[in-house]
Amino acid sequence: MSLREKIEKLKEEKGAVILAHNYQTLDIQEIADFKGDSLELAIKATKVDANLIVFCGVDFMAESVAILNPDKKVVVPCKQARCPMAAQLTPEMVREAKKSGYPFIAYVNTHASVKAEADVCCTSANAPDVAKGVAKEKCFMGPDANLAAFASKKARVDVIPVPKHGYCYVHKAFQVEDVIAAREKYKDVEVIVHPECDVEVQNLADFVGSTSQMLKYAEKSDAKTLVVGTEIGLIERIRAEGINAVPLRRSVCIEMKLNTLEGVYKALLEEKNVVKVDETIASRARRAIEKMFKVME
Ligand code: SF4
Repeated sequence: MSLREKIEKLKEEKGAVILAHNYQTLDIQEIADFKGDSLELAIKATKVDANLIVFCGVDFMAESVAILNPDKKVVVPCKQARCPMAAQLTPEMVREAKKSGYPFIAYVNTHASVKAEADVCCTSANAPDVAKGVAKEKCFMGPDANLAAFASKKARVDVIPVPKHGYCYVHKAFQVEDVIAAREKYKDVEVIVHPECDVEVQNLADFVGSTSQMLKYAEKSDAKTLVVGTEIGLIERIRAEGINAVPLRRSVCIEMKLNTLEGVYKALLEEKNVVKVDETIASRARRAIEKMFKVME
């Protein structure tokens, strides 16, 4: 029996579901019951009829699934899969910024302890709308400074990044020269990038959006070639749908790739790497996530 068949069998026996982020390797995405961005997956988890969830992504995402699903057991294939950007913002930094009286928006790419201190959460898809919804004139957002700049520009409010230069190394890798080179290389081309890319790169793109928004854009685009500025897993996913997508530059999230099919099998079998969030923190973090849903109504 192949590893994939073993996973399918065990999943069936235990009545478990597998959730995989868009940046996971294609073999993991293929065995997943649901694929998507971090928030889509957390919401999906609240709607599935399963007590065991195997979450394939990084730490803060698994935490969000656990926060929104306190009655379900959430396990991960690899406990070392931790997002380095999420670690750039601490609860103390949020508390310090909030002393000024302006609201703090925590990107979902933060730990539960940070969400617990924030007024509201946002995703890369709704950051401008949340900023517009909660800030009269000014607000804070962290940890990604490029997302804060994107939200500020779109929402036309002052969005102060905390920390000042927080970044995702995967998206920081894309350069203005990459966009110029892509436009020279391909004739009928569109360049789409993630808002965690540098502002100069965003300014040269045809579209800036979250992974799910990029996927939707790709499905509708008439361009002969789509040049995509985000983690390679999403590009593989777009290509798997028969769309001609090429990376703006090959950029890999090493932490996301720590999950393997073997790890998924072990997580299902042993149920050892359980994700737990202290309920006092979870309830406050849940409030910030739910406030985001309210702002979006
Ligand atoms: S792609 Fe960037 S933000 Fe996403 S998990 Fe990797 S390091 Fe973190």
